[in-house]
Amino acid sequence: MGVDDGGAAFRALVVEDEVDLAQVVVSYLDRAGFEVEHVVDGLTAVEQARATDPHVVVLDLGLPGLDGIEVCRRLRTFSDAYVVMLTARSDEVDTLVGLGVGADDYVTKPFSPRELTARVQAMMRRPRVGQDHRPENVTVIGDLQIDPDAREVRIAGDLVALTRTEFDVIAALARHPGAVLSRHQLIEMVWGAGWVGDPHLIDTHIGHLRRKLGDDAAVGKYIRTARGVGYRIGEGR
Ligand code: CA
Repeated sequence: MGVDDGGAAFRALVVEDEVDLAQVVVSYLDRAGFEVEHVVDGLTAVEQARATDPHVVVLDLGLPGLDGIEVCRRLRTFSDAYVVMLTARSDEVDTLVGLGVGADDYVTKPFSPRELTARVQAMMRRPRVGQDHRPENVTVIGDLQIDPDAREVRIAGDLVALTRTEFDVIAALARHPGAVLSRHQLIEMVWGAGWVGDPHLIDTHIGHLRRKLGDDAAVGKYIRTARGVGYRIGEGR
């Protein structure tokens, strides 16, 4: 895997101060064909990401200097890289998702480096809006197609009539297929960062969307509920 259309290797940046663990992750990614760099603190991570523009960043939460949350926030101001956050406890993940940190995936220690590598490889196979200026922005979830350029949603080829806001909500979810987005994140993406109001407004729009898509909340064929957190579209990672 690890090879993109131009024949060049995908670049991975591993940010982890536990050197033994980092070396294992680096060696797995290296064997999977990635061009891998490793740094041990947050500030260097941000500088390195600016310099090398990695495709994916494996980012430890607990770091000296800037922690993983702050590194992720800074990365997001200039980078479209996939971010996999490494956490020490599984209960941290809900908090991080709730904070709208913007990681694409979360892996709890101890983890299998093989599985981490498989997840990173799966990310590289997924198209991402904005990266490499891909002309093809359409997200496909089973028989559901979301085209942000045409502002069209189709099921098995048939156009689904949505309001502007309903479209913006599903398009926001479709920008990160498989990733849980918190209500807060969705609101920022749809209404902008300055919006003030009840975050459960999102639930109302999701309800309308599900009805129009013929989706059942209990089944979650297209849009799934992450209880107490938010929503995701498509299969989880
Ligand atoms: Ca650490």
